[in-house]
Amino acid sequence: MMHKRVLLVGSTLGSATSGLLYLASYLRRAGIEAYCQLNDTNVNKALLKNNIERLLTRVDPSLVGVSIKWFPHIARGLEICKIIKELSPDTKIVLGGNTASYYWEKLIVYPDVDYIILGDGEAPLLNLCKTGSSPSNLVDIDSEYGDISYIENEKSTDVYLSHLNEIFVDDDDIKRCNNIFVYTGKRCNSNCFYCGGCATAMNRTFGASKPFFRDTEIVKNDLHEAKAYTKKILFDFDFEPGKMSQLDYFDEIFSDELKQLSAYFYFWKLPQPATVNLLAQKFSNLTISIDLASLSEGHRMRLQSTPDLGVKPQPKDKEIIELFELVENQTNATLDVNTILGMPMVTMQDLDENRNLAEKLINYKMLGEIQWGRLHAQPGAPILEKCEKYDMKLLARTFEDFLKFSRFNLDMEEYPDWRNLKYPYILYNDAKLFAATLMNYQEVNGILKKRVLEKDRGMLHT
Ligand code: SF4
Repeated sequence: MMHKRVLLVGSTLGSATSGLLYLASYLRRAGIEAYCQLNDTNVNKALLKNNIERLLTRVDPSLVGVSIKWFPHIARGLEICKIIKELSPDTKIVLGGNTASYYWEKLIVYPDVDYIILGDGEAPLLNLCKTGSSPSNLVDIDSEYGDISYIENEKSTDVYLSHLNEIFVDDDDIKRCNNIFVYTGKRCNSNCFYCGGCATAMNRTFGASKPFFRDTEIVKNDLHEAKAYTKKILFDFDFEPGKMSQLDYFDEIFSDELKQLSAYFYFWKLPQPATVNLLAQKFSNLTISIDLASLSEGHRMRLQSTPDLGVKPQPKDKEIIELFELVENQTNATLDVNTILGMPMVTMQDLDENRNLAEKLINYKMLGEIQWGRLHAQPGAPILEKCEKYDMKLLARTFEDFLKFSRFNLDMEEYPDWRNLKYPYILYNDAKLFAATLMNYQEVNGILKKRVLEKDRGMLHT
């Protein structure tokens, strides 16, 4: 065995991807002492260094895995690697996560990085621990190409949560677990032009674009394991028509033992009424988050009907309002809305429609947050190749650009939380349109803030 003791950390401030828990569980089952820090609260470089020193002393790992899943944290991930090598030059470092995998050729040349895992990580990481290499999904400085032949799918029943009582580095980390994300499946079939998690990007990063859903018994096991460590479970959900309906799937995986927990569902498309009713019965508190390409129905329909943009099916206002009515009738449910400012093909009429829908939605007492993010560049998102066609310009296209923005985050006096991260926006070339959308943003923001003040609920971020 090359590496008997392994530490896994994220590069985000706050909660890292729960993929670290799955990796550590997998290694533990193979006899490796794997530890994981899930929550990182260190807001500046000095605290970051102190914490890494503490983790290295406590775990004494010969291998540290650093996840760079999201691109705003590239610089922080590299900073973590640098600190580890300064403190412990013999410790090997392996990067993983979507962004590390996507930009492996750029990142492997950093002297503090020994290896990068491409795509799914369980088996390659175990191979690395056992032998110091892996026949697939692992590159080092001498690699000429990146093999991604290990691809997890619905048959990967050896990937599940276990040993959670052993893998958290310390008790404080467990106490900071406000929520745990449990995978019901992975990947997406759509190609929404703004999304770095789209099928095309996933194909390049994970070697497969085909989404899959995990076996119900495996998901039930994960939920059983996670419930002792958190009060809230997160789900990121879409369902491809298959052998089971969405309703039957939920009914099967959510047992009575979860009734004391809260659940947060990121629904990619509007859930069916029966699904909402069922979920409200399954958990003590339910939050449903829906994803709209624009607040304006006209804009949503135009985006959806432009094949070049690949936007997933968008709901009509009527369907959104029906969902709000339904949630309003539950006693324990909340509805969040995620939407994007600054999409292509916007018109002045759309800006009015944005305001009109916001005015309607704030009347619902079960409205939680409206999170209105500005359109920004993401590695692998199809918009990187076509924004000129829509008379827009990018603030980032290459690895170096994304690295620059991640450095803005790292160099701030206090590392920003997810609401305040610096993103490379995509902007209209038309200055008038740009000014009008900014004004519209402030107007809608004002409507939402008024509601926050009145009801002490709801938030907005750029
Ligand atoms: S935004 Fe579109 S492409 Fe991205 S995960 Fe959601 S449905 Fe898939």
